[in-house]
Amino acid sequence: MGKIYLVDVTNRDGVQTARLGLSKLEKTMVNMYLNEMGVYQSEFGFPTTRHESNYLKANLELVEMDVIDSLRLEGWIRATVGDVDQAFRLVPQLKHLNLSISTSDQMIEGKFQGKKDKRDIIASMTLAVDRAKELGAESIGVNAEDASRTETDYLLEFATAAKERGAARVRYCDTLGYDNPFTIYESCKTLAKEVGIGVEIHCHGDLGMAVANSIAGARGAIDGGQDAYINTTVNGIGERAGNADLLAVVLAAKKSKGFADKYELGGNVDLAMSWKIAKFAAYAFGIPIPINQPGVGANAFAHESGIHADGVLKDPENYELYGYEELGLGEPVLVDTGRQICTGEYSGISGFRHVMSQIEEVSFANDEEARKVLELVRYANVESQHPLVEDELLFISQYPDIARKLLTFTPE
Ligand SMILES: [Zn+2]
Repeated sequence: MGKIYLVDVTNRDGVQTARLGLSKLEKTMVNMYLNEMGVYQSEFGFPTTRHESNYLKANLELVEMDVIDSLRLEGWIRATVGDVDQAFRLVPQLKHLNLSISTSDQMIEGKFQGKKDKRDIIASMTLAVDRAKELGAESIGVNAEDASRTETDYLLEFATAAKERGAARVRYCDTLGYDNPFTIYESCKTLAKEVGIGVEIHCHGDLGMAVANSIAGARGAIDGGQDAYINTTVNGIGERAGNADLLAVVLAAKKSKGFADKYELGGNVDLAMSWKIAKFAAYAFGIPIPINQPGVGANAFAHESGIHADGVLKDPENYELYGYEELGLGEPVLVDTGRQICTGEYSGISGFRHVMSQIEEVSFANDEEARKVLELVRYANVESQHPLVEDELLFISQYPDIARKLLTFTPE
């Protein structure tokens, strides 16, 4: 029986979203939290993009150092030999890659405008897979962009060609959020059964069904005899109406009616990290968590009407499917209304030492040592333009060499 693995794409689909972005330190913190949460893989960025190189290399170093000890870091590029070459030129340490190319008639005609036909698409993808293997990629996923609007026979041919060249998985991209749970179930089942390859399910919320479609697609892949890999983002942030929300996918897999009896999440996903990662992403993206967000919205465990309040007080299970403690909620949130000292790009040593003295794990031997970390904190603030959270300050003081690399930009 196949299992369901989580491939979080916040650091790729999330940050490529209009009006939204993360600093390189914030992207790193997302990887750190995903690792702590037991997520299988993070699509951690764009290896062909020069300003990501130092960030990507620094995060791969965190893997070598065993700081990121279970999360796989995978880069996203287009399925062309040129992109593969550029990716390995800029980030030679890459181990895991996803190669993406459009497969629907709409996109082949609409994007390539007669310059590429269906044969060319498969040829470009297979050559890219060959090249990535040649250059040392350990695992390769092949993305069929707009798979939900792709003719089934062609999609199967595409996935079969990917498998023959040694790709580990094919990503079924419902790029426009066009599928519904019934159609995506069938498509993913067919892919898994006919091609015999693991299926990644990539869903968007244009019709409000990203999470439902992800779960249905995963079930299809497993019923077809393969593992399923669901693409998620923290707080569902992603292109247009967003991607499948990480926490909602985990809750749907674990808590929805009868699902977990047969379809299991792989690895050890720790729900107790849910609040921490959701809160951080909301702060870093500057997008508040909606009041009705599953699990972590302000109203997720709030009850007011007489019947509900009475019922939940008698037995929480009357009106709650899961407990807030499970998600890492329950601690009071303290908001200082008096004097506050913040860290920023113009901070000085005295204010900085005051802020750092409140973090238990941090102690500086002398001013000299503190000044070195402060300098990095200032640069991190230049990039993020909002005060760093405690975990970021702790990260910089624990791994100053990594932080220095993350914060180094050398435009041509
Ligand atoms: Zn997407």
